[in-house]
Amino acid sequence: MGGFPITIGQPPRYTGAVPKAVDLVVIGGGIIGICTALFAARGGARVVVLEKGLVAAEQSSRNWGWIRQQGRDPDEIPIMSEAQRIWEDLSRETNAQIGLIQAGVTYLAKDEAAISRYENWLPNARANGLSSKVITAAELGRLYPDMAERPLAALHTDTDYRAEPWVAVPALAEIAVREGVQIVEHCAVRCLDITNGKVAGVVTEKGRVAAPRVVLAGGAWSSLFLRNHGVALPQLSVRSQVAATEPVADVGQSAGSASKLSFRRRADGGYTLAPKGPSELFVGPDAFRALPGFITQLRSDPFGCMLKPYAPKGFPDAWGTKRHWRGDEQTPFERMRILDPKPVPAKMAKLVRDFAALFPQLGAVKLKASWAGMIDTLPDIVPVVDHTPIEGLIVGTGMSGHGFGIGPAMGRILADMAAGRQTGHDMTRFRFSRFTDGTNMVLGPDI
Ligand SMILES: Cc1cc2nc3c(=O)[nH]c(=O)nc-3n(C[C@H](O)[C@H](O)[C@H](O)COP(=O)(O)OP(=O)(O)OC[C@H]3O[C@@H](n4cnc5c(N)ncnc54)[C@H](O)[C@@H]3O)c2cc1C
Repeated sequence: MGGFPITIGQPPRYTGAVPKAVDLVVIGGGIIGICTALFAARGGARVVVLEKGLVAAEQSSRNWGWIRQQGRDPDEIPIMSEAQRIWEDLSRETNAQIGLIQAGVTYLAKDEAAISRYENWLPNARANGLSSKVITAAELGRLYPDMAERPLAALHTDTDYRAEPWVAVPALAEIAVREGVQIVEHCAVRCLDITNGKVAGVVTEKGRVAAPRVVLAGGAWSSLFLRNHGVALPQLSVRSQVAATEPVADVGQSAGSASKLSFRRRADGGYTLAPKGPSELFVGPDAFRALPGFITQLRSDPFGCMLKPYAPKGFPDAWGTKRHWRGDEQTPFERMRILDPKPVPAKMAKLVRDFAALFPQLGAVKLKASWAGMIDTLPDIVPVVDHTPIEGLIVGTGMSGHGFGIGPAMGRILADMAAGRQTGHDMTRFRFSRFTDGTNMVLGPDI
């Protein structure tokens, strides 16, 4: 790993023509799209995944690699528990070393209020049989013996996992292909083909694909895609920056969230770090449109978001990004094959210094690489996984910064939804209509 491991300079691995007709088109080759396709193929469907850039080049490789039940919305917990079982199965089905390890997740309490928030969330964990508990400073000391920060307590789930995102998601794509899924990279879906008010397929930059069902798993691009069809989804994206250290001594296996930063040990012996602090929103037309939906979130955490005046050219919510196009026109999707926001070097250098200060016995720690990702989020910080007002179009998006861990189960659910099967979970919380049906906004847990 020198720079970021998946870049636009790499040749696509999955090339070729698009199929003429399939049972299911999946838009987007992130974890949600790949897992949807895998489970749809297991259910007997002919499936194609169409990816404008490369598999797992956006959020699904750029994330921290935490596979956590801890701190989840109560309605996500049973889905997340299923996801962990699927992760175990899939890690056995691939020959790649995806680094799946059950080393736990730990949130250090910065004050009494944080401990109260943890205590308030614990009944959700107990109701679902999770092992989460508030641990004492002494127990925390056993997890991280040499940590300089000594909080009163921490929330800890020893059964949570981690994995290596940029290895894992391409490995899941390989399983999907082995099981009959076709993937076409460098193939933007420009728009839906709608006949008599129903989905009849998609129009891509490489031609038309007929299909009665389409799953949109476009991550940060989903609302832009929907808007072109007159469907509004109040989805925004925030920049999140990440640094990877060179290999260092093992200071703790459990992924941790401390006062200044979060850290997670990688398979190569380095740590993946992320700074604490507000998320960064590049303000564009969608931010203004979506603002009313986000009021509850802003009220609950007024300093949780730092506004930047405009997004770099070509970003989904940049001022100059086209909002409407036809199937025979080039679209914003093919103009930006990989959404690759830049990290701020000084911030990344400070992040590594903060990590070294948290574990002083490490001495000087070297930065190996840094990157950023645009996290797609919805006003209540939980995803939408549902049929849309367009018959035949199903959407799985807005994973709100926690879709890597839950991705395999959300994919399984989306595949079942597309096939008209029962999903096995109560998906009311994740319905498409919740932003317009007059119900009160209920924010996901902020712990
Ligand atoms: C820095 C960071 C840290 C995170 N940490 C964690 C974590 O520790 N644990 C966790 O669970 N989650 C984490 N997340 C969140 C997680 O990565 C995402 O929720 C998840 O990867 C979303 O997957 P996705 O498939 O929906 O989207 P993506 O991975 O973004 O994939 C969407 C894909 O759709 C493609 N696409 C879009 N439009 C089109 C089109 N029209 N035609 C063709 N292709 C299209 C895009 O090119 C892209 O590849 C983090 C995210 C970031 C950025």
